[in-house]
Amino acid sequence: MKITLLGTGTSQGIPVPMCACRVCSSTDPRDKRLRCSALVETNGLSILIDTSIDFRQQMLRANVRRIDAVLLTHHHFDHLFGLDDIRAYSSAQGELIDLYVCPESEQEVLARFGYAFNRPENIRWGLPALKMNVVREPFSLRNGVEVTPIKVGHGRINIYGWRIGNFAYLTDCKTIPEESYKKLKRLDALVIDCLRYDEHPTHACLRETLSYIERIQPKRAYLIHMSHDILHAELESTLPDHIRVGYDMMEIVVD
Ligand SMILES: [Zn+2]
Ligand SMILES: [Zn+2]
Ligand SMILES: [Zn+2]
Repeated sequence: MKITLLGTGTSQGIPVPMCACRVCSSTDPRDKRLRCSALVETNGLSILIDTSIDFRQQMLRANVRRIDAVLLTHHHFDHLFGLDDIRAYSSAQGELIDLYVCPESEQEVLARFGYAFNRPENIRWGLPALKMNVVREPFSLRNGVEVTPIKVGHGRINIYGWRIGNFAYLTDCKTIPEESYKKLKRLDALVIDCLRYDEHPTHACLRETLSYIERIQPKRAYLIHMSHDILHAELESTLPDHIRVGYDMMEIVVD
């Protein structure tokens, strides 16, 4: 299984327009962050986590040739609003593309993109063509790929992280409920929210992120959703070897 981090930045992206801070003006390419999204390639499937607002640019940059399914973590604009551009894939593939969401996001997604769902004629009209799947339990995609939703707390709402095999992706998580830890055992790789150094009401800060990694005990962990508080090289130099600061187009291979 190969995971490509298509974007690793917070909702504004880095650099932030009009900001002259040391991270926004850094020349290190690892400090240039599009909005969070990841591509998981496994068992012949190409699975997209979130359709970020930078979706089009990310698909072109990573040369993504197919999307078999979209796993949406939640409906916030940075994770969802690139959805319309999936029309290129539903048209080329000639089929509805399955989108999987948590119950709390279903109506929010339909309010913005209702025209894109459950209408086979959209394929012919060149509109985005998707099938809505609200999931509460683990489910299987084609080729025997098992996907487990992992509930996490994101301020006032509960959203999903996703587990596929021994890989898990937890973005925008302030808290992890007790029941979710049971689903995060024996991970080879964990990708997890780390917004900044100081606490935040809806995202994990560095101290919280490290405490979650300590409890989950994955073999390797990668931090994402970073703000312009975090200079890649500076934070990475303080972390143990098994915890890395994610960057755009980073590839993670899991057996
Ligand atoms: Zn976000
Ligand atoms: Zn800045
Ligand atoms: Zn969010």
